[in-house]
Amino acid sequence: MVHYLDHAASTPVRPEAIEAMVPLMTENFGNPSGAHRLARSANRVLDEARETMAAALGAKPGEIVFTSGGTEADNIAVFGTLAAHGGVAVCAATEHHAVLEPVEFSGGRVASVLNNGFVDLDALAELLDSEVTLVSVMLANNETGIIQPLGPIAELVREHAPKALLHTDAVQSLCWIDVACAAAEADLISVSAHKFGGPKGVGALVVREGRTLSPLVRGGGQEKGRRNGTQNVPGIGAMAAAAAVTVAHRDEECDRLGAMRDRLVDGLRAELPDMVESGVEPGGDRSAKTPNMCHVAFDGIESEALLFLLEKEDILASAASSCSSGAQDPSHVLAAMGMSRSLAQGSLRLSLGYSSTDADVDAALTAVPAAVRRLRRFAEQEPSTLDPQEATHG
Ligand code: PLP
Repeated sequence: MVHYLDHAASTPVRPEAIEAMVPLMTENFGNPSGAHRLARSANRVLDEARETMAAALGAKPGEIVFTSGGTEADNIAVFGTLAAHGGVAVCAATEHHAVLEPVEFSGGRVASVLNNGFVDLDALAELLDSEVTLVSVMLANNETGIIQPLGPIAELVREHAPKALLHTDAVQSLCWIDVACAAAEADLISVSAHKFGGPKGVGALVVREGRTLSPLVRGGGQEKGRRNGTQNVPGIGAMAAAAAVTVAHRDEECDRLGAMRDRLVDGLRAELPDMVESGVEPGGDRSAKTPNMCHVAFDGIESEALLFLLEKEDILASAASSCSSGAQDPSHVLAAMGMSRSLAQGSLRLSLGYSSTDADVDAALTAVPAAVRRLRRFAEQEPSTLDPQEATHG
């Protein structure tokens, strides 16, 4: 039996989404921009999906722009704002690469975070001025699950950067947070279907009425010219179906998975007392984290080896250390939170989702301590070659 503990990477497509999607590829396959009845029917699917997504996100239907996913929504938010208004973009150091890269590429400013993962409001205030046209701070972090309180950030933006739009990447949020409420002060909100039981390659950006962005791709004027290109009607229909079920069951799922996550983290700590939980002191409060996220780190081991041993036990997880430029690079999120390089290199993200069961937690509680102990025993026999100077990085 496979224990899938990587729902933050992608969660299985919900049956309701598949049911909504299939007829949109077989019978109702028209191009929504056309003039005949199949086209009108496809367009009705978009209208209904716009209403569902708007209700889920606390927006008006006309404020929903369908995109090819979270990355595109984030890129439209940053580059679309800069193209329309000029100026400078600012984001937090712990943003997903889909925000961080566009901000850095455009010569923007990056605000530091505190050790608990919250944006350092004093540091942010220093970066804000009348030149700033976009501030992007994510709602829930994809590695740690830490939820940023957007209220104080919106206040700072209004005070110090009055021209700026506030964008929030809510890609990891819809399953766990009432986005309509938590992101009420944001001008732009990104979501991605495959994080809440829809298919990959489809998402949405909320663009509040009156806010103007330039399109990144020019074309046939779809999505009121804000995102050109024929819409992914099957994906959008499936995304709306997934969003509706997600929101309807959110409260009970938060309770169920929150209890499972606590059992998982507390159980791991009982076995491995020196384990570090990102953003939370031992015995501390986890209410600032999404209830699905167990994100921990073990000194003296490498995530890659841990994941290998776990996969041999049919446990599929991730390290959440973005190793795109080489295995030695620790996650930029953990580095920004001040975690030492050696500890960040032993990070493990076990993320739960709607299909998670107690058996998944039981399996992880057996396999993770055994694997960590095995790797530590191995490391004692083969002393680490890591430069001790490096171990205090961050
Ligand atoms: N933003 C966050 C916080 C994410 O976790 C992800 C995906 O992992 C993205 C953006 C990118 O979304 P997508 O995979 O739909 O491009």
